[in-house]
Amino acid sequence: MKSQPSNSLLGLSLQELTNLALGSGQPAYRGQQLFDAIYRQKIERLDQVSTLPIEYRARLLEEGWGVGLPAIARKFVSSDGTVRYLVELADGETVETVWMPEGDGGESGDGSEAGDEIEGGTAPVGRRATICVSSQMGCAVNCKFCFTALLGVKRNLGAGEIVGQIAAVLREQGVEPPLQRVNIVFMGMGEPFLNYDNFMKSVRLLVEGVGIPESRMTVSTAGIVPRIHDFGQEAVRPKLAISLNGSNDTLRSEVMPLNRKWNLGELMKAAREFPLRARERLTFEYVLLAGVNDAPEQAREVVELVRGIRAKINLIALNPGTELPYRTPEQERVLAFQRILVAAGIPTFVRRPRGRDIFAACGQLKRTVE
Ligand code: SAH
Repeated sequence: MKSQPSNSLLGLSLQELTNLALGSGQPAYRGQQLFDAIYRQKIERLDQVSTLPIEYRARLLEEGWGVGLPAIARKFVSSDGTVRYLVELADGETVETVWMPEGDGGESGDGSEAGDEIEGGTAPVGRRATICVSSQMGCAVNCKFCFTALLGVKRNLGAGEIVGQIAAVLREQGVEPPLQRVNIVFMGMGEPFLNYDNFMKSVRLLVEGVGIPESRMTVSTAGIVPRIHDFGQEAVRPKLAISLNGSNDTLRSEVMPLNRKWNLGELMKAAREFPLRARERLTFEYVLLAGVNDAPEQAREVVELVRGIRAKINLIALNPGTELPYRTPEQERVLAFQRILVAAGIPTFVRRPRGRDIFAACGQLKRTVE
């Protein structure tokens, strides 16, 4: 698979930028200046790095270096305020990044989703805003209810391409961390744990460079069990969400073929062993498919599965798509499912769909341009 061009500064760590500067006979602190300019100021071009001597900027350009900030090719604005961006990478390919001005209704897990709707007005932009970022171009996991699966996987995104989506959207929205708060969810196109190293590098760049605390980030995995173990060992990491979507192996294998590789026994063992931090909860997402996995009996199976785990559950009523063989359950069915989980003492939230009208909602990201 092709990856990001090697002459992009975006994606390099402080150490790598420092080495680059030292290699050109520059003092080590030039690395820090580049790091601040790229990640904190989010410059577009090297000539905007006013702290660098003109000769050094010229030398970097001669050597073929550029910032590598991706361009926003198209944007689609939903009636609910959600914006879906088609972000163009250096090779001309696009990925999708979603801006949700009033949060995401559940992923952040920090209480900002409490109540979900704010009474009597809207939240100030930046307070609950969430960016949903893609980790791969397409996806290889092949979940039967997800649009992105229809694309297959084209390639992994580099760390700079993941951070770049966020930098481009923050610029566009005029939001500047760390003073202005923003949540990040790694829940766009792709399976982050099948691009683990680049995903984790992007996390560190976001924390150290852009200034977004790890506590405001959540990554969702379809259930790549070995990487769940690795992720638990990371010193700096987002919160973890796991896409459950089926309450027993038969059901889960039907909607997520990946379950044949890592079944519920292995997945829930990894979840049970996952080292949670103080006050942290593990999130399970459960996409409700009418008549398939939304019966009260299946809710009771979910209760048994998560027993003993400090967890919360996000229920997502299927976001429909014409090419999908599933239907969205009635609201009453969703609420009945929720009631069973809540009665068992599991905090359970029904996620409000965002940007369905512009194909920006969960599972709808497949570079639709109509
Ligand atoms: N690959 C990762 C990250 C994507 S997160 C993962 O699977 O977790 C996207 C979330 O949206 C997942 O929880 C997925 O189960 C859910 N999803 C996929 N298709 C959907 C659809 N059509 N409607 C509602 N949710 C969907």
